[in-house]
Amino acid sequence: MAQSLTRIHFQVLLILLLCFAAAGYAGYLAVHDLQQSSYQQKATQAARAASDRITETLAQQRQALEKLAHQPGVAGLLSRGTPADRERKEDEIQSTLSNATAVRLLPRNSDGALLSTEKLDPACLDFLRRASMADAPAAPEFHAIGTPSEHYDIAVTVPDENRKPAGYLLASFTRAPLLSAIEKSLPPGGYMELQQPAADDQSQAVIALGQVASVQGASVVSALGDSRWTLLYQSGDIPPAIFAGNRIYYLGFILLILLVIVVVLFRLYRQTIKAIRHDIHSLIRMFRDLREGSVRVDYPMALREFSEIFDYLRDRGQKLVEEKQKLKDMGLMDHLSQLGNRRHFEERIKELFDASRANGPSSVLMIDMDHFKKVNDVHGHDAGDALIVGFANALRKVVRQTDVLVRLGGDEFCIIYAYAPIEKAKVLVDRLRRQLPREISLTKGVIHQLRWTGGLSAMHDKDTKPDDVLWRADQALLQAKEAGRNVTKVYDPAAGTLDKKRVIVS
Ligand code: GH3
Ligand code: MG
Repeated sequence: MAQSLTRIHFQVLLILLLCFAAAGYAGYLAVHDLQQSSYQQKATQAARAASDRITETLAQQRQALEKLAHQPGVAGLLSRGTPADRERKEDEIQSTLSNATAVRLLPRNSDGALLSTEKLDPACLDFLRRASMADAPAAPEFHAIGTPSEHYDIAVTVPDENRKPAGYLLASFTRAPLLSAIEKSLPPGGYMELQQPAADDQSQAVIALGQVASVQGASVVSALGDSRWTLLYQSGDIPPAIFAGNRIYYLGFILLILLVIVVVLFRLYRQTIKAIRHDIHSLIRMFRDLREGSVRVDYPMALREFSEIFDYLRDRGQKLVEEKQKLKDMGLMDHLSQLGNRRHFEERIKELFDASRANGPSSVLMIDMDHFKKVNDVHGHDAGDALIVGFANALRKVVRQTDVLVRLGGDEFCIIYAYAPIEKAKVLVDRLRRQLPREISLTKGVIHQLRWTGGLSAMHDKDTKPDDVLWRADQALLQAKEAGRNVTKVYDPAAGTLDKKRVIVS
């Protein structure tokens, strides 16, 4: 069963599409992975921005407190001032601090014990005690979480003239500045939570903003500089990871597809080459058979496109062989050249002359080899015969099947260009001269320089018999011989009579 080139093209196209699909899928996965890592990157950036803002806010508040604690007279107030004096100072300090809900000045004795702690919230007192024991700046802390008085405390040491702690300045702040810092850094769709360690190692959300991702989001937890707080950031939903963890299987899968594609393409390529080679061999065999005068019934073809042309060629070849046989049988063939003879020529020119009124005129080219006698004289009669056969074969190769090619006798041949008017025939004669070989090999390695002279004319409305066109073609041939040979002269039938001026030299 012959296969079709179109089908092969289609298969190749399909395979290429498959390749593109596999590459596209791999690209999509790569982009997806990149996207995922960019989500993680953005999450880290957002968390860092929020944590920087919060740290800065806390640092500013602590700095302001430190400055106030170092004010002249504050240490004295702690060691010697009355509670009323301290209260006045506390109010004054609170008015200078934004977002402060309460300010306390708390003296301590030489043992480090805090004094005047009445009216102090127990959580705040505990916070201060821990601070005094640690002997280091206390990290800010949220107290009274979940109540209307919720606040976070910052405490700084108030130094006396000997730089020893005289007591503490404690300030309570609302969460407003922290909330605004988080708000400014929170990307749309994200969620942030400020967490404070609680008892039993749990952490407690002190501020939460945004919406928790419903499916999956990139999340980052970062510690906040000088505080005990941590910040949790979770981005909005992100597409789920594809083949996460199974990357090796996925890569193996793509490689397998590519391998299959390569194998299929290679097989297709080999099949096509084999089919083309097979058909070329069949073609060569058919031409060889044709030359030998026999055509087989079938020439197996591998490619459907070729088989149609081959069928046509085989049919034409078959007809040619049959015609040749018919000519032989009817005594219409010249035995030496295997072309039609003068009898065949006369029958055909009559047919074409009769049909010229209905189908248009045909043209006649008379051909005579130059100095043929010399070949006979110099190389012998056999060489002359070989030249006739060689020339006939060369003519057969270039003359169209629809035209009539005959050997009239001796070294004279004739072509009738069926239904070709003079202008078209001129083109065909020009082509004939270009296509015929310059040399023909004779016997015993003798190479003959082929020269021939032509006389062309065409049938005309005023012609009364086929001989009229033959006469004009003969006249043109005669003139061409006189003009020095190896040319073709044209006798245009429109000229009516032989007029030298009207004869066209080609
Ligand atoms: P021109 O250039 O004028 O055509 O000169 P030419 O030598 O070709 O002369 P011309 O065409 O008149 O001569 C044809 C010769 O061909 C005459 C004859 O001896 C020779 N001849 C005729 N039939 C055959 C043949 O069957 N075989 C061979 N070998 N020669 C032939
Ligand atoms: Mg001659």
